[in-house]
Amino acid sequence: MRSYTDLYIGGAMRAPASTEAIEVLSASTEAVMGTVPSGSAGDAGAAVASARSALEGDWGATPPNERAAWLDKLAEALKARAGEIAEVIAGEVGSPITMAQNVQAGLPIAVTSSYAKLAREVPFEHEAGNSLLLREAYGVVAAITPWNYPLHQIMAKVAPALAAGCTIVLKPSEIAPLNAFLLAEACLEIELPAGVVNIVSGTGPVVGEALAAHPGVDMVSFTGSLRAGRRVSALASETVKKVTLELGGKSACVILDDAPLEKAVTAGVKNALLNSGQTCSAWTRMIVPRARQAQALEIAVAAMASLKLGDPFDAATRLGPLISASQRERVEDYIARGKAEGARLVAGGGRPDGFARGYYVAPTLFADVAPEAVIAQEEIFGPVLSVLPYDSEEEAVNIANGTIYGLAGGVWSADPSRALAVARRLRAGQVDVNGGRFNLLAPFGGYKQSGVGRELGALGMEEYQQVKSIQR
Ligand code: NAD
Repeated sequence: MRSYTDLYIGGAMRAPASTEAIEVLSASTEAVMGTVPSGSAGDAGAAVASARSALEGDWGATPPNERAAWLDKLAEALKARAGEIAEVIAGEVGSPITMAQNVQAGLPIAVTSSYAKLAREVPFEHEAGNSLLLREAYGVVAAITPWNYPLHQIMAKVAPALAAGCTIVLKPSEIAPLNAFLLAEACLEIELPAGVVNIVSGTGPVVGEALAAHPGVDMVSFTGSLRAGRRVSALASETVKKVTLELGGKSACVILDDAPLEKAVTAGVKNALLNSGQTCSAWTRMIVPRARQAQALEIAVAAMASLKLGDPFDAATRLGPLISASQRERVEDYIARGKAEGARLVAGGGRPDGFARGYYVAPTLFADVAPEAVIAQEEIFGPVLSVLPYDSEEEAVNIANGTIYGLAGGVWSADPSRALAVARRLRAGQVDVNGGRFNLLAPFGGYKQSGVGRELGALGMEEYQQVKSIQR
């Protein structure tokens, strides 16, 4: 049981305004595994004031090399806690422990190190004609983050913001907030200057809205649902804040008629089911040539069966539970809608046998899904893969582009140049050709209603800077 009673504000753990607490449940046992303070608008305000004074004090004048050194220290302090981070996230999110170690703990540490390097390498000034262009810190940043890759989504904001010279107030997800308190411990241990990072746990409508509306915040970096992203944008517009949004997705895996089917379908299934499908960039629509759909389904069923569903703390588990009862209900509702809409249920379709506790849903496969079906249009955020057949390459591209989202995608072909040509036509921010690996230096973000702005890499740091032109 992890019970946190204080918030990390102004370089120390401080008592919040009220003693109200939020309970954090284990995704696999449903037991209370910790509590965190339910922060108030007043706590958010105190954190903004401390971030402002750090920005206007020493931190604002720190050279990039010094900030890089702080990021190196922070990465080391997180690394020392990697095992604990993985365990906490396997508990609160339900991610299988092996994946939690590699991704949930490994990725944020790697991202933090990448920004130490970028702060040293990327020039903060350059000449253009008779002008000197300065890349200055955007200011005080409010970061609002979701629960599915919680510490990665936090560090994908905190690390570039610090590298750029900003100070930050973080509101982590109230559903998986414990990992953020490990970050607070790491900041305390390295004695990060007071106010550079502040962490206020609490709910979206209370702490999130207070930060989005606060006149002392210069920029809001939000990751989460489309619904909350719209609300944050509207509140932030009152004081003309910069807003970046990383929202949902309904990404397509486009399998061309000459693709190596076994490889493409197996990779597509694994991608769709990573973190039990609770991945914003998941390829939740598999677009296959109609003549190859039957064969693709056989491969997909076998690939799903090969992923061991079970206790997240068992090293052999590849599929854990969903994060919460309400998330499971939402996924079950979508499965029911898929059936009602006439999609063909090929595998799964509900709760698996043998799990009396934990928010488990069996990996679910629908075939012959119509492009306009609700399960092909809306983000489900669960282990549900829809297979959509097509008759021509043109139709495949139109189906792939035919949602309000545009976050990610995959293209498979025996001919790399053909795959690349189709990748160019997809209206999405990240496209992997023939299984191209995740690259933490590649900007990540969405076209259309998947968001505004980019995270990761040098472009991810630029988001936290504004340019001053000095003419000479
Ligand atoms: P959510 O929108 O419910 O919550 C995200 C964060 O916003 C939380 O911290 C929450 O407290 C806060 N929030 C909620 N309502 C708010 C409000 N009115 N004002 C201010 N803040 C508010 O989303 P979630 O359920 O935590 O996460 C799942 C969603 O996030 C999915 O839609 C997923 O696609 C998306 N997501 C996107 C990316 C990406 O990079 N594009 C990454 C991960 C998750």
